[in-house]
Amino acid sequence: MIILKLGGSVITKKDSINPEVNYINLNRLASEIKSYLDGLNNSENNISNLNNHNNLIIVHGAGSFGHPSAKKYGIGLEFDENQYPEKKIGFSITHNDVSKLNNIVSKALINEGVPVIPIPISSCVITKNKRILSFNLNLLKKYSEEGFVPVLYGDVTLDTEIKLAVVSGDQIINYIASKLNPGKIILGTDVDGVFNKNPKQYDDGILIESVSSLDDLDQFDLTTNIDVTGGMIGKIKELLLLAEEGIESKIVNASIPGLILDSLNNKNVKGTMIKK
Ligand code: ADP
Repeated sequence: MIILKLGGSVITKKDSINPEVNYINLNRLASEIKSYLDGLNNSENNISNLNNHNNLIIVHGAGSFGHPSAKKYGIGLEFDENQYPEKKIGFSITHNDVSKLNNIVSKALINEGVPVIPIPISSCVITKNKRILSFNLNLLKKYSEEGFVPVLYGDVTLDTEIKLAVVSGDQIINYIASKLNPGKIILGTDVDGVFNKNPKQYDDGILIESVSSLDDLDQFDLTTNIDVTGGMIGKIKELLLLAEEGIESKIVNASIPGLILDSLNNKNVKGTMIKK
């Protein structure tokens, strides 16, 4: 089984105030995923496996689709009871926004002939203090066994402590990977991996090829570590939790054409391994 993350930074224009898809990246990635699946089926002589897509699971981020509304309504933050009606509408809007992106991502994959099935976690997950408490994976496994490609995405959840929460695609990967123990986890983002300083801000950053603990990041000066919090640190924390369980993952640049296809095909590509 392979779990592939399509980062919100790659499939959307993440800094855009309004939700905006990066169709160039999205359509290219959909075609790379299809090429990978075709390659698998062609190399399979066993007829019974012809329609089996070898258990690929896709998780995508929200990018400019989830963040503006989640931020505007403060979803995931504690609130007073009298704010609940407004929070609820914000929750609905946020879900609606991320579902729109999921619909677009799914359509791009369907256009390539990939039999996707979205699994919205707001419909099947409860969190406790922003962490996934329960998620019954039986249906996901059944779809996967039938040769469907499940697509999960960062979404809103009901929370036993703070009532309304947001769960990132990276936390979803952490949860499903620890339950399903995939052979490979690839996280596609818009930079080559983890650098000693944010590569979007500094040209002279050095790519870190392997991270095994948060201490590995401590060696960099504090200001750059604050930059890392911009998204990369949360991702690394989720992946380090998996690494503790012996599950490795790799962050790679999905905006470079062909790189996701090469990663899926076990080629050695540039990136950052997260492992113990
Ligand atoms: P995605 O949406 O693809 O899952 P994020 O936007 O959450 O990814 O995280 C990737 C972003 O993290 C990059 O676009 C980059 O600007 C930012 N970042 C901050 N610090 C670093 C760092 N030290 N190394 C790599 N990326 C960093």
